[in-house]
Amino acid sequence: MLFLVFLNQVLKILMSLLNQKTLKTNVKFKGVGLHNGRMANVCIKSSEPDSGIVFKRVDLKKNNYIYPNFANVSNTSLNTTISNEYGVKVSTIEHLMGALFGLGIDNALIEIDNEEVPILDGSAKEFIENILLVGFEVSNKPIKIIKINKKIEFKDGERFISIEPSKLSLDIDFELKYKNNLIGNQRNKINVYEDDLKEVFNSRTFCLYEDIELIKKTGLAKGGSLDNAIVVNNKKILNKGGLRNKKEFVNHKILDCIGDLFTSGYRIIGSIKCSQGGHYLTNQILKKVFSNNKNFSIIEIQERNLPHTLINRSLLRSIA
Ligand SMILES: [Zn+2]
Repeated sequence: MLFLVFLNQVLKILMSLLNQKTLKTNVKFKGVGLHNGRMANVCIKSSEPDSGIVFKRVDLKKNNYIYPNFANVSNTSLNTTISNEYGVKVSTIEHLMGALFGLGIDNALIEIDNEEVPILDGSAKEFIENILLVGFEVSNKPIKIIKINKKIEFKDGERFISIEPSKLSLDIDFELKYKNNLIGNQRNKINVYEDDLKEVFNSRTFCLYEDIELIKKTGLAKGGSLDNAIVVNNKKILNKGGLRNKKEFVNHKILDCIGDLFTSGYRIIGSIKCSQGGHYLTNQILKKVFSNNKNFSIIEIQERNLPHTLINRSLLRSIA
């Protein structure tokens, strides 16, 4: 009897996980923007099923909604910036979007009073921890998922990204090739819905010490410091305490990739391979996929054919 009650509980959780989710209560963040160096306040609010993720610039009175859709991506240089038709922008959305994707949040209104999402510690750690703290509100509407039907590739010199069909998972196989010996060639492969993504969420953005001057000359990284980015100087990491995990560089690129994939609007079933990619390549592959509706299908997950592998297991543990 007790076992049946337990089984019933587990089934309830599994079923509810396949329904659209939002936050139970508001989550607030405050911090400096990595590139503009300005302070911003963010409040993530719960929203209705089928509304998706929406940004609202509350420092502006009108034309202030911006949809984080791949077609609205207006800049991919060292961050992902989205703009609406009136030129109103929000930049560095990728780590927050990665956290929302990873946690399975389908709908949220993100109010922000400046142009750039706070960089916090350079990873998605704080976003994840604070969202988990308030918990989820589960609706009775099923989630929608994009299923890739055909292999699509995008190449840019030696760099490439491809996405091909997979059964039920979203796999990301990412490699980095750096001339700097400390970063060197790093590769990691993850299953977004099955693996424990803690190391991916905790991995910080990074740069080479010798590139800092150049980056600052282009008007970027005004808020950058050792508190929010790993800085590598030849064979040395300048941050106290070194790396958070052995593959922190490539893991951060995977976090960026997950966040940028969420500009598709839904979770994805597909298998990604990427070499030396970044915001630009992920944006290009999404544009290519959605340029032809034979490349993908949008499916609704019904309770009766529970593909439990679509839900990240560590998330399941944290809810159970
Ligand atoms: Zn990043």
